[in-house]
Amino acid sequence: MRKLKLKAMAKINLGLDVVRKREDGYHEVRMIMQTIHMYDQLQLLMMDTPGIRVKTNLYYLPENEDNLVYKAAKLLMDEFHIQKGIHIDLHKFIPVAAGMAGGSSDAAAVLVGVNRMFHLGLSSEELMQRGVKIGADIPYCIMRGTALAEGIGEKLTRLPAMPHCHVLIAKPGIHVSTKFVYSNLKANELMVHPDIDGQIAAIQNRDLKQIAALMGNVLETVTIPAYPVIQEIKDQMLECGALNAMMSGSGPTVFGLFDREEKAKRASERLKRSELAKQVYITGMFNGGI
Ligand code: ATP
Repeated sequence: MRKLKLKAMAKINLGLDVVRKREDGYHEVRMIMQTIHMYDQLQLLMMDTPGIRVKTNLYYLPENEDNLVYKAAKLLMDEFHIQKGIHIDLHKFIPVAAGMAGGSSDAAAVLVGVNRMFHLGLSSEELMQRGVKIGADIPYCIMRGTALAEGIGEKLTRLPAMPHCHVLIAKPGIHVSTKFVYSNLKANELMVHPDIDGQIAAIQNRDLKQIAALMGNVLETVTIPAYPVIQEIKDQMLECGALNAMMSGSGPTVFGLFDREEKAKRASERLKRSELAKQVYITGMFNGGI
């Protein structure tokens, strides 16, 4: 097959805890990951001449070896000595540098696509083992759905699918670097940790209210003081009836969980009017595989 279309789905973190900072500088995490119905579109084209070419619709994203899709294609094409070339056309919808794993998900989709296009015969697990070399979230982006991520984010345990609800996504007009957040986190001094095990039990019991009540993200301790607009967005979602609202990943995207669509719509309209958020979308959970 010479042409392949793929969807790279975004994620939110229903819970994000940093257990400790390791001696090697990496942070050990416990996160509840959830795929949502928001995606980038990718098209892969096989070329007769060797090489990897990347094109994106966003002028500020790299189109060279710095793009995660380039790294993902190169990893497999080098290992399997693929003599053909590939053209990757990436159309972004997932907000960039937003805590939604957009880049990792693009890379995951390319690993899956190259495996399929060149008939490499790698299993999902084998793709995950390779993906983690490029980014800790990539194995999860291959797995998708509801999962507990431990270690540096690569040790995955599948959880039962989240109960149905409406997800409001709101990203203020700022970009937050994941590196900035983790390097300013005082991981070993955190006084409050989210109850990740309690949240897992709530997911197993399909108890949406309790899942929402136990949402917590220790990275908010760094990002919110630096960017108070995140707290303002959370407050607006809660005032409009969100079961809970929280920053995703290292931010600055905020998501709110709603049991009723009307409430999510009301919050969405209010946020758009307030101009606190530059991008606002209503979406839902995604629990299919890649
Ligand atoms: P995470 O939730 O994993 O921390 P993120 O949402 O914070 O991810 P991304 O959108 O994945 O961050 O991108 C962060 C940086 O990576 C961007 O500033 C961008 O320059 C670079 N990058 C490289 N490839 C991509 C890509 N395909 N899509 C988005 N960003 C990319």
